[in-house]
Amino acid sequence: RKISNRKATSVYKDDMHTFLKESMLSEMNLRKGLDLDEFELHFQPQVNCRTGEVVGFEALLRWRHPERGLIFPAEFIELAESTGLITPIGEWVIKEATQQIRKWQETGIDNISISINLSPRHFLHQTLPLYLEQCIAEARIGPDKVVLEITENVALEDQTAVISRIKLLKEMGYSISIDDFGKGYSAFIYLQHFPIHEIKIDREFISELGNDIKSTGIVQTIIHLAEMLGLRTIGEGVETKEQWDILKQLGCSDLQGYYFSRPLEVDVINGLFEEYGVA
Ligand code: C2E
Ligand code: CA
Ligand code: CA
Ligand code: CA
Repeated sequence: RKISNRKATSVYKDDMHTFLKESMLSEMNLRKGLDLDEFELHFQPQVNCRTGEVVGFEALLRWRHPERGLIFPAEFIELAESTGLITPIGEWVIKEATQQIRKWQETGIDNISISINLSPRHFLHQTLPLYLEQCIAEARIGPDKVVLEITENVALEDQTAVISRIKLLKEMGYSISIDDFGKGYSAFIYLQHFPIHEIKIDREFISELGNDIKSTGIVQTIIHLAEMLGLRTIGEGVETKEQWDILKQLGCSDLQGYYFSRPLEVDVINGLFEEYGVA
């Protein structure tokens, strides 16, 4: 054997080894994080566009890593999806969110819904409807308090399966919302074929409102179309008063964004409820 060859192979193997170790470690860490209850939900208020009143919250996942601190979903959702851990993580989110609705109801905060993000894979998972039923039964809340957010990506999956899943969940009393509406290529498929309740207009259009006449036109068209189809609209990523004013003029139903509030920890929300009273 030539020494140079052996050296090359061993370097390559070392790299592979590190790579495998790292990717396995993070999957293992993710699993461990779940088992050790290191995940938490932050909640971003959704407000009525006309009145500014809080009508609901979107649950947003965070991983409070013992060494690395707070980790945002951008860093681990993809890994969770590719490893299939997204289903147990999504189940944890559903359980936690439904329990939170219960806790708020117990302190007199009624009429508030929570929106839960579901990956396409989990949305189509066989056990989802039963799992949801168990969680709302345990929390003693109605399905009308739960909004399930799916992205346009779900339309890339088996459409017949997606349609029948949406229909079933709708019959069970849940609301279905299309997240990041307008961002993908399949927006109109939803409107035409899927019995959904709500669309969330993607932040990219909202952020250009007032600056770019085209974006304003697109948002206006989306809102009109939704109105015609009897769907609610949520403007996502509202950061300025001007954006709020325009969306109010265009007749958007609800809004969400830093202008109103960042996603907050439960303790912070409870503090605000105490300070400002309960509706
Ligand atoms: P998303 O569902 O579109 O959630 C909205 C994201 O925009 C959140 O980021 C939120 O913090 C951020 N945001 C809200 N208002 C504003 C604003 O005014 N300006 C700007 N620049 N950003 C704003 P976050 O929490 O980092 O979540 C990122 C994505 O991770 C979510 O996007 C969602 O796709 C995914 N995700 C979050 N939680 C879950 C979960 O429990 N399950 C699943 N499957 N995905 C989740
Ligand atoms: Ca916890
Ligand atoms: Ca969402
Ligand atoms: Ca979104």
